[in-house]
Amino acid sequence: MKEKVEPEGNKAEPTQNAQNTDQKEPKKDDNVVLRTEKLYRIFKRGKFSVNALDGVSFQIYNGEFVSITGKSGSGKSTLLNILGTLDTPTKGEVYIGGEPISKMDDSERTALRRKRIGFVFQDYNLIPVLNAVENVELPLFNAGISKEKRRQKALDMLEIVGLRDRADHKPDELSGGQSQRVSVARALVSDPTIVLADEPTGALDTKTGTKIMNLFDDLNKEQGHTIIMVTHDVALADRATRKIVLKDGKVIKDQTV
Ligand code: ADP
Ligand code: MG
Repeated sequence: MKEKVEPEGNKAEPTQNAQNTDQKEPKKDDNVVLRTEKLYRIFKRGKFSVNALDGVSFQIYNGEFVSITGKSGSGKSTLLNILGTLDTPTKGEVYIGGEPISKMDDSERTALRRKRIGFVFQDYNLIPVLNAVENVELPLFNAGISKEKRRQKALDMLEIVGLRDRADHKPDELSGGQSQRVSVARALVSDPTIVLADEPTGALDTKTGTKIMNLFDDLNKEQGHTIIMVTHDVALADRATRKIVLKDGKVIKDQTV
């Protein structure tokens, strides 16, 4: 296995503080798409502070389908936002493709997010004035892709999520399940290395939620996307190939099935 060389002064510390999980010393492995090292996120409010993340270390391998579960307030969204570079840890590091993201400036981070990360939110986050295909195209702007090619890629993605015939519908003309499929198409259009999803079925009824889950399953098994999905639904979490459980900002279980 080829060793990845990290810049001096930025070497991984041994994980003697590793939590109560199965994890071992991080291997520097080409197959690791994402790694966190002792992540802390402390929210301060007046004299109170909350350790939303309390020393989270793990590595995610290419092609894994990871579920993150835990009670409300256990730090799931905080973790996902940091992995997606939407928030910054108080302490610790996230490596994406071996690169420490704290060392990047804003424009590098934005470029990384555009190219490597697809985000699916519980409430879809679609732009209301844009139709489905325009929403899906958004991540392709400033990517040096012609207008025609952008449109074609977005339509291809809508085809994959089964919504090619809804391309010109605006979000308020789509059902919840359809909106979430558009948001999945948008997350995938730039062919990201990692797909992050925060309760993607949380706003959907069980039947529609199952359809979205089937879609994630296909994306993982057939297209090889690495998926990290936050869910509170045990049945959905069971579909994952690896289950991480958080409690009070700590990983209390990390199990590959
Ligand atoms: P989950 O997604 O598992 O429900 P969160 O990551 O949203 O949990 O929150 C973890 C903890 O951090 C909670 O105690 C929450 O109240 C706190 N928290 C999250 N975001 C903020 C914030 N912006 N300001 C202050 N506290 C926050
Ligand atoms: Mg949450």
